[in-house]
Amino acid sequence: MAEVRPPADWVNRFADEVIEEAARRSPGKPVVVASGLSPSGPIHLGNLREVMVPHLVADEIKRRGVPCEHILSFDDFDRLRRVPAGVDPSWTRHIGKPLTSVPAPPGSAYPNWAEHFKAPLAAALTRLGVEFRGISQTRMYTSGAYVDEVLLAMRERTRIDAVLAQYRTKPRLAVVASGIDATAGSGETGTETADGSGAAAEDDGATGAGYFPYRPYCSACERDLTTVTGYDDESTKLSYTCECGHAETVRLAEHRRGKLVWKVDWPMRWAYEGVIFEPSGADHQAPGSSFEVGGRLVSEIFGGRQPIGPGYAFVGISGMAKMSSSRGAVPTPADALGIMEEPVLRWLYARRRPQQSFTVAFDAEIQRLYDEWDAVARKVTDGTAAALDASSYDRAIRTATGELPCTPRPLPYRMLASVADITTGDSDQILRILGDTDPDRPLRSLDEVQPRLDRARCWAMTQLPAGERTRLAAEPDQATLAGLSAAERSSLDLLLAGLDEDWSLDGLSRLVYAVPKLQAGLSADAPPTPELKAAQRAFFALVYRLLIGRETGPRLPTLLLAAGQDRIRALLAG
Ligand SMILES: [Zn+2]
Repeated sequence: MAEVRPPADWVNRFADEVIEEAARRSPGKPVVVASGLSPSGPIHLGNLREVMVPHLVADEIKRRGVPCEHILSFDDFDRLRRVPAGVDPSWTRHIGKPLTSVPAPPGSAYPNWAEHFKAPLAAALTRLGVEFRGISQTRMYTSGAYVDEVLLAMRERTRIDAVLAQYRTKPRLAVVASGIDATAGSGETGTETADGSGAAAEDDGATGAGYFPYRPYCSACERDLTTVTGYDDESTKLSYTCECGHAETVRLAEHRRGKLVWKVDWPMRWAYEGVIFEPSGADHQAPGSSFEVGGRLVSEIFGGRQPIGPGYAFVGISGMAKMSSSRGAVPTPADALGIMEEPVLRWLYARRRPQQSFTVAFDAEIQRLYDEWDAVARKVTDGTAAALDASSYDRAIRTATGELPCTPRPLPYRMLASVADITTGDSDQILRILGDTDPDRPLRSLDEVQPRLDRARCWAMTQLPAGERTRLAAEPDQATLAGLSAAERSSLDLLLAGLDEDWSLDGLSRLVYAVPKLQAGLSADAPPTPELKAAQRAFFALVYRLLIGRETGPRLPTLLLAAGQDRIRALLAG
């Protein structure tokens, strides 16, 4: 295995390109990669890609010993555009204020709207091993950090307007309202222009009195329903009116309650931070997008360079039963970490190129995902994994600075979920059942299967539809038992007679497949035939019906272990 060049997965290819570009643009300085998120509401799990793509590239750069910083801009000085479902509708009166000036939703422990939605995301990122420097755009603007850039943009407003004008005349590609609020989407999605908030004008900066790339928040009502009516370059005196009736003249060199419009703000920050790599949502790659326009403005106005900025595809969600209904059914990264381990969530992002879309499963598909994950892990352990699989697995389980938490004994997720389901999550019963699965290596404590058990238990408790929950019958189903054919009765008797022989997951697996063979006069290890398979299906359905009142259920050996011998005998005996 010595001297094998790392496989050229997408992360490695971007890391090569970014390191080379950084050495050209800013030799000797740490490489800067960037993400941006708007804490305008619950931060959607889909937006995690905005962070994970640069994170994985930054992590690869650090693994190579090259200093690298991942900055995460929180666009918390953006206006509140709409009040998400589940929040008191009276909050609509705050629409137009900066997100940091809007009170947090009722009952929140956080000082304002932006902090309320930022905090759970930051906590999830920390759990995921994402190291970042968070930058509050409120703090940057209100501290005056950008004052030179703001004055420059105003001085150059005619040139900026001319650049924007070239794109205004071009037909825009239809932008699909994705419900995603990554920076990349700020002011760009259909929903935002459709809500009557004037977001289209905000993007652009055009007014009846000329073009001004700076928009003040009104000092009377705090909202951005303002129109700049005049500006003097010499004195930096800026006059504005507001829809609330307020009118005022301020000195822009000292003014702190306002910001550049999005299409100018983004390239200004590329230059200010020296960003080398920043991906954005795929809709940003369209002609006339803020990424394309920003590429012109950053070099022509701000003296910087456009970052390497691949578009990334949409991340879908499947399932998510009932969870979050009070929050408008928005799945967040914290929700995903409730049902899957950190390395598994990292893996979803690492193994797909940014251009590939994928789905995060909250439904039963998560069990197949885990089977796949465990299979890769086994191959990595025994050295048979394909190079690309080994590399995405490695990106999932550790970062340049440490290992992610892992489960010492990774019992199958589907088994843990079944056991949690059958026991309604009771830890003592779970330990008893899991302790029986492998008598040669008994489980001593549930710690050995943590944190995976907690994630599987959460999945079973919150995501499994009520109709699919497993409940052991309290009493024998006398009607079914009375109507059994002789063959059915003898199949149950064979099962009961074999329970004692090897009460373990493997032993019971062999037993349940052997019963129909023994009934057919074959040996227990006879090869399966179509007739045997049909007989097995009928036998399994009968056992499910008698144990849980349904024709299907968790894997039968798991169900038998969970039920325990006494209960099985009580429910299946004649
Ligand atoms: Zn006002």
